[in-house]
Amino acid sequence: MAPAVYLDYNATAPLRPAAAAAMAAAMAHTGNPSSVHGFGRMARRKVEDARAEVAALVGARPDRVVFTGGGTEANNMALAGLGPRRRMVSAVEHDSVLKAAPEAEFLPVGADGVISLDALRDRLQRPAPPALVSVMLANNETGVVQPIAEVVALAHAHRILVHCDAVQAAGKIAIDMPALGVDLMSLSAHKFGGPQGVGALVLADTVEIEAMQRGGGQERGRRAGTENVAAIAGFGAAAAVVAARRQDEAANMTRLRRRLEAGALERVAGARLIGADAPRLPNTSCLTLPGVASETQVIGLDLAGIAVSAGAACSSGKVAPSHVLRAMGASEAEVLGSIRVSLGWASVADDVDRFVEAWSAVCARAAAASASAA
Ligand code: PLP
Repeated sequence: MAPAVYLDYNATAPLRPAAAAAMAAAMAHTGNPSSVHGFGRMARRKVEDARAEVAALVGARPDRVVFTGGGTEANNMALAGLGPRRRMVSAVEHDSVLKAAPEAEFLPVGADGVISLDALRDRLQRPAPPALVSVMLANNETGVVQPIAEVVALAHAHRILVHCDAVQAAGKIAIDMPALGVDLMSLSAHKFGGPQGVGALVLADTVEIEAMQRGGGQERGRRAGTENVAAIAGFGAAAAVVAARRQDEAANMTRLRRRLEAGALERVAGARLIGADAPRLPNTSCLTLPGVASETQVIGLDLAGIAVSAGAACSSGKVAPSHVLRAMGASEAEVLGSIRVSLGWASVADDVDRFVEAWSAVCARAAAASASAA
């Protein structure tokens, strides 16, 4: 049987060899980064080198990078770390934002998945405006990229802080945090070839947060606990590779994504590409075939050796219908028939061709089955 095809990079990307090597080297070394002796200093060096690499990825200062246990923790830290305040989040945020700010007002998106700047402008002029706005840089399900610099311009004019979840954007598009002007930015290593369970919250020079986790004074008192040196080293190594190769990788992903979308829409009658008219990440395609359940498509593809995801990645084994597609006004049949195909640094044309072939076969079988049942 042909080797399996992995097209679920937005759930997690394969570990880059440089990250694996950095982690192995860190794990082979004993030392607590807070210890003053040579062993400790060597571990500290690994953490600080990685901090510089992660900071460089988004154009930030290394001392503004707070290492966390992943993107979820970074989002929670951003939303809780500024203390109680009125919050507004986009309707298409990841659950780690939505559930960390359950009382927040929603910023709506249009049918293309892009947030409504008019709605934001309007809200900021009415009484009791939010004090923090959280809008992601790119969506995990559709790849739609948000106009963050414009959000910042509007919010800052009213002295409102902006948090940006850049977990899916990092490694796929260029990120210049000072140019975007955001106050807090979340990152996660495993979405671009670093290890799982490590991420960062990056703070603008003018912003400080209150620690959620208290204890030792690690991370400049912003997050207590002995650092996960190996994971941080892997994060740094992945960030360094991305800094060197992102443009070439993005060009490759864009070419492959176009091939995939053209092939899929040509072969499967009735299929639609969600967010087609919006600026999107080079790697993400959200396809829907109304009438054929996402699960049927995902399982059929899995049987053909191809890994994709049904809308949002799930943590509990079951997939909830996508709040993202609903917020975009997709019909229920489109929501229930959607899949996410996401490419990455190791994707090749053969992966795409096999996906197109297998997806059209799965959809044709499902159409034949429903015709014979009718
Ligand atoms: N934010 C976005 C947009 C995501 O896609 C994810 C993961 O799917 C997260 C946050 C959470 O990141 P982590 O898996 O590192 O907790």
